Amino acid sequence: MPVGMPMPTPPNQRLENHRPGRHNAWKEGGIVPKLKNLPPNDLVPKVPCLFSAEEIDRRIGELAQEISRDYSNSDLVVVGVLKGAWIFMADLVRRLTIPVHCDFVRVSSYGSGTTSSGQIRLELDVTTEIRGRRVLIVEDIVDTGITSNWLLEHLKRRRPRDVRFCCLLDKPSRRECQVTIHYTGFLVPNQFVVGYGIDWNEHYRQLPYVGYLPDTTSDDPSG
Ligand code: 5GP
Ligand code: MG
Repeated sequence: MPVGMPMPTPPNQRLENHRPGRHNAWKEGGIVPKLKNLPPNDLVPKVPCLFSAEEIDRRIGELAQEISRDYSNSDLVVVGVLKGAWIFMADLVRRLTIPVHCDFVRVSSYGSGTTSSGQIRLELDVTTEIRGRRVLIVEDIVDTGITSNWLLEHLKRRRPRDVRFCCLLDKPSRRECQVTIHYTGFLVPNQFVVGYGIDWNEHYRQLPYVGYLPDTTSDDPSG
């Protein structure tokens, strides 16, 4: 496993914690989970592996089989949630054995200062006509569930036949609202994960595996 591949050094900025209720707080204003033992600037960050490229590949094969079976003879639109889901979606749709249309949305949550309101801002919307069609939302990770619920309501307004969720990772320990996830890659513990499309301040997306930032949890109460 190519842990330790050359990576850009994370910017030297204040690192804070994500606490429950501070939905996506690490996405705003450089607020990220506390990273104790931040590697010195001259060291390549090491990201321990949670799920290897091989494990991900195998699981995606299983999910693709299931989805292809469930949506055979359907008019399926797969909607990827940028940016985190782009690699997962690319790998998933290439394993499907049914015709699909692909589209994307991009959302961010916002708040003021260090507290996030959990409100969602739509930055890119689907352009595909989804009325009467079946929609599968592909997400990187479902955490509090706020994004997923918002997306569900947003897309339902366009009167699709149905909308389902597929996520690579599910972090159920931090759920704040109920979400029905139809296809889940892996359950993850309450740790801040990166890699395989998922970032920390735009770093680590290109890791071929899913890892975690050591000494972090999503809601570490210290600092
Ligand atoms: P939710 O609305 O479910 O709380 O948040 C979902 C989004 O939060 C994900 O799509 C992802 O962008 C971000 N997120 C949640 N947990 C993590 C994590 O462990 N690592 C990273 N990098 N992003 C996360
Ligand atoms: Mg996401």
